[in-house]
Amino acid sequence: MRKTKIVVTIGPSSSSPEILDRFIERGIDCARLNFSHGTLDEHAEVIANIRRLSKKHGRPVAILQDLGGIKLRLGRLEEPVLLNHGDNVSLVPENSTQEAGVLPFPQPGVLRNIEPGHNIFIADGTVRLHVTAASPSRVEATVLSSGVVSSFKGVNLPGVPIDEPVLTEQDKIALQFGVEHGVDWVALSFVRSAEDILYAREHLNAAGSKALVMAKLERGEGVDNIDSILPEVDGIMVARGDLGVEIPMERVTIVQKQLVAKSNEAGKLSVIATQMLWSMVVAPAPTRAEISDVTNAVLDRCDAVMLSDETAMGQYPLEALNMFDATIRETEKIYPYFSDLGSGDRTQAITSAAARLVRSLGAKPVVVTSTGRAAFELSRFRPDQDVLAFSHDSAVLQKLCLGWGIRPGGVIPPQQDMAKLVGSVIKSGLEGGVISETDVVTIVHGFLPGVSGTTNAVQVLDMREYLSQVSAEPAAAAKN
Ligand code: ATP
Ligand code: MG
Ligand code: MG
Repeated sequence: MRKTKIVVTIGPSSSSPEILDRFIERGIDCARLNFSHGTLDEHAEVIANIRRLSKKHGRPVAILQDLGGIKLRLGRLEEPVLLNHGDNVSLVPENSTQEAGVLPFPQPGVLRNIEPGHNIFIADGTVRLHVTAASPSRVEATVLSSGVVSSFKGVNLPGVPIDEPVLTEQDKIALQFGVEHGVDWVALSFVRSAEDILYAREHLNAAGSKALVMAKLERGEGVDNIDSILPEVDGIMVARGDLGVEIPMERVTIVQKQLVAKSNEAGKLSVIATQMLWSMVVAPAPTRAEISDVTNAVLDRCDAVMLSDETAMGQYPLEALNMFDATIRETEKIYPYFSDLGSGDRTQAITSAAARLVRSLGAKPVVVTSTGRAAFELSRFRPDQDVLAFSHDSAVLQKLCLGWGIRPGGVIPPQQDMAKLVGSVIKSGLEGGVISETDVVTIVHGFLPGVSGTTNAVQVLDMREYLSQVSAEPAAAAKN
C-alpha cells in the first residue's frame, strides 16, 4: 500500500458527488475544506457526500477543516489599479476608498504596527511596497514591484506584529460547525506561537471538539517558534503559499526540511502543501520540476502531501491525483525505511522497540490506541509494513488515516484484561483480513486500555503458535 498520504482540497472543481466518488475510489486519504471559501451549507453537503461515499467504498477518509484565520486583506476598490514601480501610494484603515493612489486596509490595529522600512506584499507578493512614513491613520509607501491590485487581495506584512487572536469571529462560527459535522482535523492558519494553539484548544474544548489540531506554518514567527509549538499540536502543515511571501522564497525548501524533521522527531504529523503540481491547474501534465518536488517531499519524510488549487479549482483534478499517487508509489520503491530516531518518553521507547522487532522479525506492526498517539509514534520509525491501528473508537481510526503508513486494523470493544484485548485484536484482524494465520505480529498496547499515555507493552505473536495455543485451550479447560 502507498504509505505517504494524499490530501486534496475540495473546491468548485471537485465538490460534485461524481468527482468525490472517483477521488475516494482512487484512494485519497484526506479531504481539506477551506473555510475561507464557500458557504457552510456547501461544506455540509460535501461532508455528507464524503461520509456516504467513504462507506460505499469501505475506505476511511479524514476530513480536515482549514480555518481561514487572520488573513489580511485589502478592502473594496472601485476598480483594479495598476501600481507602477516608483509610484507613491497610501494605505488607510477604511473599508473602501475612491481616492486615486489610496488603498483601503480595514485593519486599524494592524496598520498601527506598520513602521517605515517595512515591506507590504499584496496578492501573494506580486506587488511589493516599501514603507516610507507611517502614522496610526495613514501609511505612505513606494512601489518596488509593479502589478495590478484589486478588491480583497491578500496582504502580507513580514515582521509586523499582528496582535489579533489566532481565531477570528468567522473561525469561531466555523469551528462550531466543524464540531456539529464531526470533522477529524482542524487546521489553524497563521500560527505564531504555542499560546495561539492553547487559545484555540480552549475554544475547541469548550465547543466539545474531538478533532486533532494542526498548525499551519506560514509566518516567520511560527517557524521561529516551532520547538514550543510542536508539543501543543498533533500535526503541522508547511503552508508554502503564504510562507513564501512571509520569509524569503529561497528559504522555503530549507525551512520545509527543517520543519518536517522536527515534527518527525517529536512524533507529530506533517503535511507539505501548496503548488506541488501547480501547472496542472490548467495543463493535463505537470512539469518535471513539480514531480521532483513531490518526490523530494516524500523523501523528506512528511506524512502527507497536499493538492490545493489543482483539485479545488483546476481543470484536471483527477489527473493531478493520479500523478501524485504514481509519483509517491515510485518514490516509495527506493524509500529508506526504518529511521533511527531517539526516544523521549516511554511511548517512544516502546514504539522504538516495536519498530526494531518489526524490522528484525519481518513482523507486522500492530498498535492498540485510544487517542492515536501510539500509532503516530510507531509510524514515526517509517517501518516497511503498514502500521495496523486498532481502537475502540472508530473516529480515532478515521483521524489516523492521515498518518504515514497507518491503516485501520479494526474497531475492538474496550477491554481491561490484557489477554482479552490481544484476543479481540487478533480476532478482528483475522476477520478483517489484515492479519493472516501465518503472520508474525508485534502488538503495542497499554496497561489501561482507553487511557492515553499508558502504552507500556510490546508483544510478539507468531500467529501459528498463538492459534494452536488458543485452540488447545478449550480442550485443556475441559480436562480440568
Ligand atoms: P490558503 O492560503 O489557506 O491555501 P487559498 O485562498 O490559497 O487559501 P486554497 O484552499 O489553497 O485557497 O484553494 C485554492 C483556490 O481554490 C482558492 O483561492 C479559491 O479560489 C478556490 N477554492 C478553494 N475552496 C473553495 C470553495 N470551497 N469554494 C470556492 N472556491 C474555493
Ligand atoms: Mg490560508
Ligand atoms: Mg492556497
